Amino acid sequence: MQLRDYQQHAVDATIAFFQKNTASAVLVLPTGAGKSIVIAELARQARGRVLILTHVKELVAQNAEKIAALTDAPGIFAAGLQQKTSNTKTVVASVQSAARNVAAFSQPFSLLIIDECHRVTLAENSQYQQIFTHLRQYNPQLKILGLTATPYRLGSGWIYRQHYHGRIGNTDNPVFEHCIFELPLRPLIKHGYLTPPKLYDGLTAQYDFSQLSPNEQGEYSESHVNSLLGKMGRATRLIVKQLMHLAAQRQGVIIFAGTVKHAEEIMQLLTGTAAALLTANTPHAERDALITQFKAQQLKFLVNVSVLTTGFDAPHVDLIAILRPTASVSLFQQMVGRGLRLAPGKTECLIIDYAANGYDLYFPEVGQPKPNSKSVPVQVPCPACGFANIFWGLTDSDDDIIEHYGRRCQGIVPSLISARTDQSQQCDFRFRSRSCPECGAENDIAARSCHQCQSVLVDPDKRLREVLNQQHHHLFRCQSMQLSDDNGSLKVTYYDIEGNPFYRWFKLDTRPQRQAVFAAFIKPHSKAPGIPFPAFTNASELCAFAEKFRPPHLILLKKQKHGWQHLESYFDYNGRYQTEPATLA
Ligand SMILES: [Zn+2]
Ligand SMILES: [Zn+2]
Repeated sequence: MQLRDYQQHAVDATIAFFQKNTASAVLVLPTGAGKSIVIAELARQARGRVLILTHVKELVAQNAEKIAALTDAPGIFAAGLQQKTSNTKTVVASVQSAARNVAAFSQPFSLLIIDECHRVTLAENSQYQQIFTHLRQYNPQLKILGLTATPYRLGSGWIYRQHYHGRIGNTDNPVFEHCIFELPLRPLIKHGYLTPPKLYDGLTAQYDFSQLSPNEQGEYSESHVNSLLGKMGRATRLIVKQLMHLAAQRQGVIIFAGTVKHAEEIMQLLTGTAAALLTANTPHAERDALITQFKAQQLKFLVNVSVLTTGFDAPHVDLIAILRPTASVSLFQQMVGRGLRLAPGKTECLIIDYAANGYDLYFPEVGQPKPNSKSVPVQVPCPACGFANIFWGLTDSDDDIIEHYGRRCQGIVPSLISARTDQSQQCDFRFRSRSCPECGAENDIAARSCHQCQSVLVDPDKRLREVLNQQHHHLFRCQSMQLSDDNGSLKVTYYDIEGNPFYRWFKLDTRPQRQAVFAAFIKPHSKAPGIPFPAFTNASELCAFAEKFRPPHLILLKKQKHGWQHLESYFDYNGRYQTEPATLA
């Protein structure tokens, strides 16, 4: 068996990395890239013993088969496959079986490979961590490699600390240290290793999930999705009707439903077709039987709720219908990936996004939940280190960036302290920040204490509560903003939700005044911070750039003898004093 170029590159990157490092590493390969061949080649080349862990018996069998094709047949340790061999040079095990029988893994291993490694968490009592702890007792130098198509989890973020392209990943709670190789989807399709996806645009109906906003875990609540879908029954009927029509020309159709209730409704509408429903509650034996029937094309439709995202392989699938909202680019691409396997006679896979998720099939993962339905990934170079950041943002019809939501540069820069070692650190440029009143250092807008002097950064709500209890203070809930040229000065008019104005003036006559306006107005009000601001010499030129600015959410005012004085502006505010989102007039 000949490895494809990129599979060989992934193997080479792993060997080169572990020759120099003992830290854990991740390979990112899209679904269908042939992860099991990469695993098999690593098992063949490894001098010491290798343990391969995976979470479903199908992947245990698949990995073992590929290893046997390249080198000596491995031992298999999986209750689901009725085999318990763990004394061979290479062992492929299901994580459940291994965790229940750790004592069977007491001869040292030199390399541990985890397939679908985005499932590993840091929880000490998890099956994965129990196995890691046990294996390290017998070899403290154990090398750990993970493979996945989705190195990002809603809620906890990137699974690795840093990426070999010079980007920081997860600094707080990474499960792995280094991402050492990543292959995007596009070259796989271009070289004919995967079927080209074709986004269908003749939709008869589409759901509107734009009202949904993700919770802190980046997920949508099931009850909210259900209540929205409850009002969209007509759309569901039209969608299923269209799918039945399109399916006449298709071999296999997978439908991703939003909730169990939604899936049941779809099943009822699919009357007279060969369709089956899979949910997390479907008993294992029934699930296996339904998948077997689907692969044999005795069933044409498989409706599922968050079940068929990993470890499922039915190459004949040539229509993917997405009827659920998702805030994750990776999850969207994973659903699409179910239809991209090669199969005889298959020339394309139709992808229909009935939920208007609006992701490009080739979007990079941004690493943050999508903040609103109109956001797209935008590239924002760092003014300090030049790193090309990918953030969520908004673009105009020319693809120019109108706004972005990036906070801190994701670039990795050489450490200033230990320049001789390969220690590296995250670039400290912040696109949006909060300055520490004690030392002036820039902090994340959500930081609770200053990263430089450790002093407590007062929570805006706490500060507002205290101030508003005093007399003569007013909280101006800003709704919109206008700029005008007032005899050469910049006049900024803020309007609150009742239409009351509040004015601020900035003089622009001298160079120091123009520099001051950068700090007091341009920087905090900028929609796309860090992107070079065009030169201006007077107020009317500055007013011409009005669309580049956003109003603050709140302005704290204090009563003076003659009118109100501006105390503080609150941007990116998300607390209890908020009433409605501010927009630009
Ligand atoms: Zn930077
Ligand atoms: Zn400080």
